[in-house]
Amino acid sequence: AAALSRVYEMRRGLFGKVSSVRAVDDVSLKVSPGETLGVVGESGSGKSTLGRLLLGIDPAQHGRVTFEGKPMPTFGTAEWRASRAKMQFIYQDPLAALDRRLTIATQIREPMDIHELFEGSARTDRVAALMAAVGLRHDQANRYPHELSGGQRQRAVIARALATRPKLIVCDEPVSALDVSIQAQVVNMLRDLQDELGLAMVFISHDLKVVRNVADRVAVMYLGRIVEEAPSDMIFASPRHPYTRALVSSVPVPGQPLKGRMILQGEPPNPADRPSGCAFHPRCPFAIELCRASVPELRPVEDLRAAACHLVDSANAPIAA
Ligand code: SF4
Ligand code: MG
Repeated sequence: AAALSRVYEMRRGLFGKVSSVRAVDDVSLKVSPGETLGVVGESGSGKSTLGRLLLGIDPAQHGRVTFEGKPMPTFGTAEWRASRAKMQFIYQDPLAALDRRLTIATQIREPMDIHELFEGSARTDRVAALMAAVGLRHDQANRYPHELSGGQRQRAVIARALATRPKLIVCDEPVSALDVSIQAQVVNMLRDLQDELGLAMVFISHDLKVVRNVADRVAVMYLGRIVEEAPSDMIFASPRHPYTRALVSSVPVPGQPLKGRMILQGEPPNPADRPSGCAFHPRCPFAIELCRASVPELRPVEDLRAAACHLVDSANAPIAA
């Protein structure tokens, strides 16, 4: 029951703030302590907007976000700032997230100073412990961001994000800017820390290989809506929505043939030009008249899985790719 009170959820009808473009539309999701929710989709799918809505950085025009059972405070208020100690955002570009005039140790310490957490000397000890936890060397404490590699900078950003003992971390493409050889190291570290600290984590990425490695559950987004949500192993072994099928088909697992591979056709989605009905219909090989006319609801299609497709059963049939 204690765990349930820390559930992080968002309900119905959230819209991006960009004029009339529905960056995020009618999304409902939950992340529990100790759980990592992967959010995948092409660029323009609304994933980043969703991340900002979750943290209250972009206000939802409809719907609500609750954190630890209470509504998310309004952006910029004292309540919002206080709640920020419990939730942290990690962006793609660590250099942009860091202040180039301040040492790494100062920046890891800063959130504890701002939120007045821990006693003075405990803060210093904690900086050292956090640096060790993310695999930074003691002698890097007094370095400046430009004196570190990209991977080390992202480790510093993660250490700083953990400084306030957050309950929730939203990561938006946290390793996309790093060399492929470094990505796995940083992702594994993040996963281990998440596990150890029982964090709720939302991991936003266009890179399915990374998400497969880190997520317990996966939500697949297309033009601002979730089109499929299921435990990670189900998403990757037996995707049901045609869009998920196409995404998963593009990252085959060696030695694990995927039934019904599908090649993604056509242009990536454009939020300013949303097709009628099922927004995926112009690219879907199964589309019928109904798909052009009516928006499919996200609904349970089997235990632990929801999908938004009129033809979720027949769409699972093999097709000639
Ligand atoms: Fe394809 Fe129709 Fe399903 Fe949309 S609702 S994914 S167009 S079959
Ligand atoms: Mg993005």
